[in-house]
Amino acid sequence: MRIKGDYKYEIGDLASTLNYMAQEIVRSNQIKDDFISSISHELRTPLTSIKGWSETLVSGGYDPEETKLGMSIISKESDRLIGLVEEILDFSKLQQNEMKLNIGVVNVKVLLQETILNVWAKAEKKRIRLLLECDEQLHVKGDANRLKQVFLNLVDNAIKFSHEDSSIVLSALPHNSHEAAIAVRDSGIGISESHLERVRDRFFQVDALNGGTGLGLAISQQLVELHNGKLMLDSELGSGTQVTVILPVTDRLPDAEPAPELQP
Ligand code: ADP
Repeated sequence: MRIKGDYKYEIGDLASTLNYMAQEIVRSNQIKDDFISSISHELRTPLTSIKGWSETLVSGGYDPEETKLGMSIISKESDRLIGLVEEILDFSKLQQNEMKLNIGVVNVKVLLQETILNVWAKAEKKRIRLLLECDEQLHVKGDANRLKQVFLNLVDNAIKFSHEDSSIVLSALPHNSHEAAIAVRDSGIGISESHLERVRDRFFQVDALNGGTGLGLAISQQLVELHNGKLMLDSELGSGTQVTVILPVTDRLPDAEPAPELQP
């Protein structure tokens, strides 16, 4: 009788595990379907614009100003396509553990200044101020290009989900004796508690209508972890979001030997 009871328990257990797995498969298929439909849309939008403008320009009869406008749109939309494809390739490299880092000593202030320069024009369009509060002497060990990719993505999101005429603060301070805390803080639309756990999942977007692939935070988190760091998210719906990246600090490179003085 006891054995029968145990079996009953095990079968019940197995059934609920299978049920859970089936739900997970349905959920993950749904996420993939959503991704395919949003990525197709993301790819089609710039392609439609490139095709439209190139056909228009080929048909001729446009003045130099219109021609210049068409060419610049084609160039901008091609950059967007390249960015999307690179994001998908990076994601696949990370999934397959094939991402190689080019490790060096990175000055955090320079890293954040370069990030700001890259997104300045985009922020200007929404009259968003980008503020920098950074410890001058903070250095981390890492791949400068990959770390820049992380902060570009975080600031890009902050701009996308901020209101016009607002501010975004990039800050970097020592977190403790061996780590730095580098944060991007916005006062935008924020993320609800129920979504906060999921926004780092690959392909997840609170609202697919905002554009994007839903890969940015997943890629950023994995890149930070490859640097032995952590990515933390704090957000309140309606108040804003702060993403903090914790990275191990390192001493800066010793200054180059001063050049010997020339004898007269
Ligand atoms: P993408 O930006 O391409 O959609 P991400 O992985 O970077 O992909 O972000 C996933 C989702 O997390 C976004 O679609 C958005 O819903 C939410 N999100 C990310 N950053 C912010 C932010 N700063 N403020 C509000 N929502 C955000």
